[in-house]
Amino acid sequence: MRAEIEKYLQEHLPEEACGLLGGENGMVKEMLPVRNELRSAVSFRMDPAEQIAAMLYLEEQSLEIVGIFHSHPRGPAFPSETDLKEHAYPESVAVICSLADGTWEIRAFDIQEGRMQEIALIFH
Ligand SMILES: [Zn+2]
Repeated sequence: MRAEIEKYLQEHLPEEACGLLGGENGMVKEMLPVRNELRSAVSFRMDPAEQIAAMLYLEEQSLEIVGIFHSHPRGPAFPSETDLKEHAYPESVAVICSLADGTWEIRAFDIQEGRMQEIALIFH
């Protein structure tokens, strides 16, 4: 699962890539890619139609949205100020994938009202 995510992120360099992680009880079982409609190296916004399609798919599979991921091709493995401000789904974890040190580092954060707490993610 991790390898699949890293491959997807890698293919979209130098742009930020994003999508949903589906699973159960904090365990990631599926990655649903969603187009970054900003096509930017420093920011992302999920294509709304693709995001809804991914959410419906997870619902059909009886899977939860474990996390919403996006990459930081050159930034650190922490949510940026913008990430903290714009995290629209407090019930979902923000997953940040950073390539700043040359290998992908994937970390997950629970963001509530602009405050973050790191949590553990388990990959199937
Ligand atoms: Zn970010």
